[in-house]
Amino acid sequence: MVKGDDFRRRRRFGPFRLSLTGPHALFCAGLVIALGMLGICGAILYQARVDALNRARETSRNLALLAERDIERNFELYDLSMQAVIEGLRDPEVRGSSAHLQRLALFDRAATARYLAAMLVIDASGNIVLDAASDTHRSGNFADRPYFTVHRDNPNVGLYVSDPYQSRLRDGSPSIALSRRISNPDGSFAGIVVIAVDLNYFQTLLGGLSLGPHGAISLIGRNGIMIMRQPYDAKIIGRDISQASTFRNFRAAPEGSFSETSSIDSVRRLYAFRNFPGLPLIVMVAEAEKDIYAAWRARAIRIGSVMAAFGAAFVVLSVLLGIQQRSRMRAESELRMLARTDGLTGLHNRRTLGEILEHEWRRARRTRHAFSLLFIDIDCFKAYNDTYGHQAGDETLAAVARCISGSIRRPGDSAARYGGEEFVVVLPDTDEAGAMSMAESIRRQISDLQIEHGASPYGHVTASVGAASLQADRENEVSALVHAADRALYNAKRAGRNRVTLFREAMGAAG
Ligand code: GH3
Ligand code: MG
Ligand code: MG
Repeated sequence: MVKGDDFRRRRRFGPFRLSLTGPHALFCAGLVIALGMLGICGAILYQARVDALNRARETSRNLALLAERDIERNFELYDLSMQAVIEGLRDPEVRGSSAHLQRLALFDRAATARYLAAMLVIDASGNIVLDAASDTHRSGNFADRPYFTVHRDNPNVGLYVSDPYQSRLRDGSPSIALSRRISNPDGSFAGIVVIAVDLNYFQTLLGGLSLGPHGAISLIGRNGIMIMRQPYDAKIIGRDISQASTFRNFRAAPEGSFSETSSIDSVRRLYAFRNFPGLPLIVMVAEAEKDIYAAWRARAIRIGSVMAAFGAAFVVLSVLLGIQQRSRMRAESELRMLARTDGLTGLHNRRTLGEILEHEWRRARRTRHAFSLLFIDIDCFKAYNDTYGHQAGDETLAAVARCISGSIRRPGDSAARYGGEEFVVVLPDTDEAGAMSMAESIRRQISDLQIEHGASPYGHVTASVGAASLQADRENEVSALVHAADRALYNAKRAGRNRVTLFREAMGAAG
């Protein structure tokens, strides 16, 4: 490749020019679109995940509210029944009547409710005095039970809800007690009314709520004692969880929700809780995060893999298109190069020479620098062909061309085959002296090739060089320079060949 080509090559295909249609641009566009698609898909999936969590939170809150309402309504009815007993016992007529009549007067139908295990009146010593179940009350002393002692020791307790305990009257079946104090007219302790609620009630209530395979729902005393939990485990009932961080969260607000790992089974759950406004109870609904996200995860994997496959296909397609584009560009570039190059010598062809001259002349006009041109013609070449044949002539042409292009060192200089055995060297920013020294160097190198030429007066292949130099300005055209160099060459031939002639000298000689 000849030197003058460098800047043109850079201008068209160089690394400094970012092509918007180049292979890299295609690959980058493909990658950006694929990443964009994956990004949008990721954002949609993330939103779906947030939605799943919000839906689960709403559901848990609603379940907690429903459980609270049911328990509160039942406990309110039980409390009303106990208050009715206390009211009735204040009536001396009721107190004086038989056990049968007292039972009829004091215990309403609520006492026969399904999960109401026992309803008793207990005296100040802890002994049963009235039993809603029969006229002849069961015997037992409960002076040690907290639901008794709390009222005995404190007249202002009101309704008391006990921790779970095992019933002595019902073969140890787990229950909780609701109790109220009975006071004498002077305010002294007269005993309690107590209702034992079978824990089956809570088990049935909470067990009916569906919370997924790893969900849990619990009823907890405000003191941290577990009353009931689903899934049911007898060992957990009565356990004190007041030190668990989840429980501390339950106590921090009347209601709310949060995510945490369970202290009981180490499963991470979304907790929704409610503190009962009128009872020392807390209901907690917890859905495992793996259950909440199960459907989402399956969908995300499905959509994510499809999108990833699409994205990868898109990138692969972009790469393939980029490769195709690159080979097309390379082929085009080679074609362009071929169209600009002379096939035999590898120098610029005449068409390219025209472009180079145009361009360099315009530049020289701007910079107002001297501009030089060399016309090189092999001497007696017709005779060479006639003597050594056309093929040898072609080889000599190529050897001379190599000589010429090898002499060009400056980036702006370029050489072209003008036609036949004639060559042109373009020397921008070069004055007469420079042009002459270049011309002489080329002439000498061709001569030094010592290619035998019997039909030449020199005995070997030589060339004549016409040089011309001109200051480019608005008045003159590049054709004048070409013409001048051609004239100089003519004069070199006339003067005996194998020499360099400068246009002015030529004019001088002509003159
Ligand atoms: P002068 O010293 O005056 O330049 O004489 P000359 O014979 O070199 O000039 P002329 O113009 O009479 O002949 C040029 C010859 O160059 C004619 C042709 O045979 C030869 N020629 C032109 N192109 C090619 C080519 O591509 N290959 C070969 N082998 N010869 C070529
Ligand atoms: Mg010629
Ligand atoms: Mg010739």
